[in-house]
Amino acid sequence: MAKIYFIDVTNRDGVQTANLGLSKLEKTMVNMYLNDMGVFQSEFGFPTTKHESLYLQANLELAEMGVLQPIRLGGWIRAVVADVEKTFKLVPGIKHLNISVSTSDQMLQGKFGGTKDREDIVVMMIDAVEAARAHGAESIGVNAEDASRTEIDFLVRFGLAAKEHGADRLRYCDTLGYDNAFTIYQSIKTLAENVGLPVELHCHGDLGMAVANSLAGAKGAIDGGQDAYINTTLNGIGERAGNADLIATTLAVTKSKGFAEEYQIGKPIDLTKAWKVSKFASYAFRVPIPINQPGVGANAFAHGSGIHADGVLKDPENYELYSFNELGRGDPDLVETGREICSGQYIGISGFSHIMGQMEVSFEDDRQAEEILELARYANVEAQKPLVEDELLFIAKYPEIARKLLTLRPLDKSVLDIIGPPA
Ligand SMILES: [Zn+2]
Repeated sequence: MAKIYFIDVTNRDGVQTANLGLSKLEKTMVNMYLNDMGVFQSEFGFPTTKHESLYLQANLELAEMGVLQPIRLGGWIRAVVADVEKTFKLVPGIKHLNISVSTSDQMLQGKFGGTKDREDIVVMMIDAVEAARAHGAESIGVNAEDASRTEIDFLVRFGLAAKEHGADRLRYCDTLGYDNAFTIYQSIKTLAENVGLPVELHCHGDLGMAVANSLAGAKGAIDGGQDAYINTTLNGIGERAGNADLIATTLAVTKSKGFAEEYQIGKPIDLTKAWKVSKFASYAFRVPIPINQPGVGANAFAHGSGIHADGVLKDPENYELYSFNELGRGDPDLVETGREICSGQYIGISGFSHIMGQMEVSFEDDRQAEEILELARYANVEAQKPLVEDELLFIAKYPEIARKLLTLRPLDKSVLDIIGPPA
């Protein structure tokens, strides 16, 4: 029986969201947390974007060190041969790619101004897949952007061409959140049956249905005999109204009426990390968690009315579908109301040693303490907010990786030779 896997795209769709972004250290922490939770793959960034190179390389090093394991780290690029070439020049160790091209007539007209027809799109995709294979990519997903507004017959043809040329998955992008659960089920089942590749569901929330559509799409893929890969983000942060939230989608897959009896997750998600990870994402993006967010919202387990309060006290199952313990909630949140020493960019050795000491981190000597402090200062400069405990611990544990993450390579001649002149 085919299964459901999760590919989180916080570090790609989430960070390309208007008004939002993450520092390279924050992106790395997201990868660490996703790995801890058991997510199959993190779409960890943009290999052709110059300022991502050192971050991507550093994260691949963490993977080689066994730290970011077993999660897969996949890059997102356009289906353009030149982008594939640039990817492997800037990030030679990259192993997993998703290659994207628009497939709808709307986009062919509206984006390419009618200069490309459907056949051109198929050829572009094939050329990019073959180039990625030639460079030794271990897995390739092919993304059909605006798939939900693409004629299904063409989408099947596109998928078959991708498969013939060695793609491993087909990503169905409901780019505008246009699908509903009924339409996406049909489309994905048709693709799974007629293309014969695992299907990725990339759903947006413009009509409030990203999670529901992800579930319906996964059912379609599995009913059609193929694995389903659901794209999610932390707290649903993504373009416009956002993407399917990782935690809400996991809850929906595992807790909704009868679903898990037939459709199972291939690689279990550890929801006991949900509370911590969701709070980190909220802090890092500077976006509060909505009070009514499934599982992690402040009201998710709050009961005000007499009847509900009485009922839940008698038996939680009266008014709760799942327990707060399952999401890692329940411990009191300690908020410092007295003196607080923050790890800002101008912190000195005394305050820093105090903070690290509270986390039971000690240094071999003053030199080592100074070195870690300097890295923490730089991390603060990039994030423009105090670092959380896990970030400080990360820097203390992996100073060389942190150094790489915090280095913005100047655009000197040797770099320009690789990336080409500014467009
Ligand atoms: Zn998207």
